Amino acid sequence: MGHSAGAVLSGLGVGLSPIVGEVYKVAPHTSLPARAKHSGDAQKEKASLRSAISSVAQHLEHLMTKVDQTSIEIFEALKMLLEDEDLFETATAEIESGWNAGSAFEIAVETFAELLAGDAAFEERIADLRDLARRVHAEIFGIKLGLDIPETGKYILVGDDFSPADTAQFTPAVIGVVTIKGGPTSHTAIICRSRSIPAVVSCAGAKDLQSGERVLVDPVGDRVVVGGDVSLATQSIEFVAKSADPIIPVRANIGSLEDAIAAATTSANGVGLFRTELLYLSSTTAPSLEAQAQSYAEILAASPEGPLVVRTIDAGSDKPVPFLDMPHEENPALGVRGFRLIQEHRSFIEDQLKSLEIAREKTGREVWVMAPMISTSAEAIEFAELARKLGRFKVGVMVETPSVAAVLSDLAGKLDFISVGTNDLSQYLFAADRMNAALGTLLNPWQPALIRTLANIAAESDAAGLSSGVCGESASDPAFAVVLAGLGFKSVSSSRSQVGAVRSALSSVTLEQARAIAQAVLKQPTAEDAKATALSELASL
Ligand code: PEP
Ligand code: MG
Repeated sequence: MGHSAGAVLSGLGVGLSPIVGEVYKVAPHTSLPARAKHSGDAQKEKASLRSAISSVAQHLEHLMTKVDQTSIEIFEALKMLLEDEDLFETATAEIESGWNAGSAFEIAVETFAELLAGDAAFEERIADLRDLARRVHAEIFGIKLGLDIPETGKYILVGDDFSPADTAQFTPAVIGVVTIKGGPTSHTAIICRSRSIPAVVSCAGAKDLQSGERVLVDPVGDRVVVGGDVSLATQSIEFVAKSADPIIPVRANIGSLEDAIAAATTSANGVGLFRTELLYLSSTTAPSLEAQAQSYAEILAASPEGPLVVRTIDAGSDKPVPFLDMPHEENPALGVRGFRLIQEHRSFIEDQLKSLEIAREKTGREVWVMAPMISTSAEAIEFAELARKLGRFKVGVMVETPSVAAVLSDLAGKLDFISVGTNDLSQYLFAADRMNAALGTLLNPWQPALIRTLANIAAESDAAGLSSGVCGESASDPAFAVVLAGLGFKSVSSSRSQVGAVRSALSSVTLEQARAIAQAVLKQPTAEDAKATALSELASL
């Protein structure tokens, strides 16, 4: 059932600018049927396998018309593997033994993978070939895999939620995003904020939106208005800068060379969070030390002036990195992710630090390194010792778990800095999965429990002589950034599209005023009261 014009669908806004556009509804991901036997007609199964292989081969040919030369060569190699007659024969034998066409092809690919294990050229492509086998399987059952995003026109993309791999496919035709699931700290939110795509996430009512409807995406009003025009959009506060410099430095969050280049065009003072894992979300083979040193050097050289805070790999949970081959976990947000990967992947973390040192020397930039998902002071100290052994960095850790927030005093003299990841800190403080739309309100940074925890972290860091910053999404909200400065944090790092707005907010107040606002906010019993108090205090200055 659709919505009537004027219907208001509540969610959580991302960004400050409204947008009006036509809805493009993306179908939810459908999972593939389990492997199964066929009903007895082997000839029919073989024919449907042939035709599915040829459709997927055509899809590859279509992709080849859109990519660069290196990718064309990869796609050509894949197409040859896909259409290999030996592979088809192996699948045919599986069909003869009873498996249906899709299952038979997947089994044949696995047999090939075992036979050719050790052949470097083939191993590089095996994950891609497995993916093609899934596509063949899907084709046979008429299931659509992956996103089908328009490349031309202008659309508001509406879907359940988008994975990092999905958002990587967003084309310039995506001018706005609405998700039914996914909270304010989900990767959809992070990517949209960094690309200045207005979005409303956690918008349950969006499930009834239909392709072709026109909607207003009103992020400041935390809502989508069906049939609304821009004049209905909620206005954000206009901050008037009173001094040239903000009361604390505003750095930028980046995840790629393009982000670094774009961040350098803002007024950011360096980089406060370089999410290195975003470089590897679609890599099926580990990058060599040389390749890493090269890409880090390019990114460091392109980054805005100032210190550059690089985070070692934070794979796992919502950010799968294919080459790290991580075990299936029932509860990955509570599993082996971030620095915990040192158990199985120590050499990758060491290579990151070594290649960062090469890049640091080559570019002459000031590099700070930090580890994600630290839970104990022992882990923090282990990382600090490793980083100091491998490079000349300032060394810190992210504070993303309540457990490490409780032991900051033990880190005096051991670390140079800490950086609070409020996205994960909220998730673990409130026991609320950051991807779960139903829990979006618990992940609202204005929640009193988060703000009071942040006050303790800032005070404890100060007492331990650690410089403290905040790099979670909360630091991209200009009013919240003022509260953070007032609580005692020494820097914030924002999504690059928000650097200007956060800087003006932090240039419109004195440190004393920010402290007074933070004190007033700390007394509020609800998130709504906390936000309203900050906004009215700011408006009255
Ligand atoms: C955070 O958790 O706040 C953070 C900055 O890390 P990420 O969002 O990449 O998990
Ligand atoms: Mg995090």
